[in-house]
Amino acid sequence: MRYSALKVIKESLTGHKGWKPVWRSPQPKKHYDIIIVGGGGHGLATAHYLASKYGMHNIAVLEKGWIGGGNVGRNTTIIRSNYQLPENQPFYEYSMKLWENQEQELNFNTMVSQRGILNLFHSDPQRDAYVRRGNAMIMSGAGAELIDQDAVRKLYPYLDFDNARFPIKGGLLQPRGGTVRHDAVAWGYARSADSRGVDIIQNCEVTGFQITNGNCTGVNTSKGQITANKIAVCVAGSSSRVMSLAGINLPIESHVLQAFVTEGLKPFISGVITFGAGHFYVSQSDKGGLVFGGDIDGYNSYAQRGGLPVVEDVCEGGMAIMPAIGRAKLLRNWGGVVDMSMDGSPFIDRTHIKGLYFNGGWCYGGFKATPASGLCYAHLLATDEPHPKAKDFRLDRFSRGAIIDEKGVGAQPNLH
Ligand SMILES: Cc1cc2nc3c(=O)[nH]c(=O)nc-3n(C[C@H](O)[C@H](O)[C@H](O)COP(=O)(O)OP(=O)(O)OC[C@H]3O[C@@H](n4cnc5c(N)ncnc54)[C@H](O)[C@@H]3O)c2cc1C
Repeated sequence: MRYSALKVIKESLTGHKGWKPVWRSPQPKKHYDIIIVGGGGHGLATAHYLASKYGMHNIAVLEKGWIGGGNVGRNTTIIRSNYQLPENQPFYEYSMKLWENQEQELNFNTMVSQRGILNLFHSDPQRDAYVRRGNAMIMSGAGAELIDQDAVRKLYPYLDFDNARFPIKGGLLQPRGGTVRHDAVAWGYARSADSRGVDIIQNCEVTGFQITNGNCTGVNTSKGQITANKIAVCVAGSSSRVMSLAGINLPIESHVLQAFVTEGLKPFISGVITFGAGHFYVSQSDKGGLVFGGDIDGYNSYAQRGGLPVVEDVCEGGMAIMPAIGRAKLLRNWGGVVDMSMDGSPFIDRTHIKGLYFNGGWCYGGFKATPASGLCYAHLLATDEPHPKAKDFRLDRFSRGAIIDEKGVGAQPNLH
């Protein structure tokens, strides 16, 4: 069923009886060409691109819970391509271009809103670092503007410019950055993949891999055994747990990241503001709630909930830079399990087990990567060659000394 303004008008005049379920609920087949483990944004985008771009349709997405129940539906919805390193920048810019065309591609309103993202700086060295980053962005076509204190003041007059510890001196603005309705992304990709014949099987947990003589030929699941020519794992915060079922140890730790939403307020934050020095970022949803977050909880966990010390820490970060936020009432908060890699960069790669592939290590920034990750993973699965935009996201990069340390902080997942 295609969606259009005409269809909405017709349905509203006829009692909304013509809408159909957005995807089917099929029983798993015995065999697929490709099984994707994990029905998050990345798994569903992979299925969409395998079917739409590579003409592969005998595919299953196995999801242990429900579509959108993982990080794809738990994040703070920010998209940007303000990366600096040559291994990262072209990939994230590619993703940004895919976002810009996503609604047309999926015929689904994912509410892509390029409202701009502003990274504040507070000192001369931090400004110099942003100049370098901005130049890398400009060279890759991502676009960037370094703005001074007056320009920040014009945009957001209520920030605390004279904060004793972090006085605001200016910011790096990416006007094309912004937000996207996160769960609509999962639904849009699911709908597209399903309409092209992909089986999306919810409540189907992968509990083991069938591996003989170094070949992976299928999975054990809570709905029985299913075989496939290729198995593509894409389980974000559960990466280390799931890959350990195949005996693979990953350079990834799982940590909890929390998100917060306030009551609805009149519009007053037009874009996304990040206060990296105090680790706080905020935007305002179309419903008026302030959506914000900060640091990870700082200990390894697979629980989708965080602790109170980080709630306090994040709120302090908000109060430090935007004192007025102290008057807003917090409505809800939640946690997601993020797959923190040791250098802060992701993996899209084959494993040493034939037929077994891995996508993960997205840290707390994988939402913005969803379209490019799906396309590059689909390319790898369909052609057995890395996509040129993701050619450096290899699993062996640590043994080769080729780490992609965007922030230059070393092997410290809590600092990326
Ligand atoms: C609070 C928070 C805020 C964030 N904010 C941002 C942001 O603003 N911008 C940004 O770019 N990124 C952000 N992120 C990160 C981003 O959400 C993730 O990097 C990204 O969503 C991960 O990919 P995914 O969507 O495929 O993950 P998920 O949606 O988590 O998908 C993985 C799926 O695998 C399933 N699974 C796990 N184990 C199994 C199994 N054994 N069998 C079958 N299925 C299994 C899970 O149930 C899950 O549905 C944030 C994350 C969090 C938690």
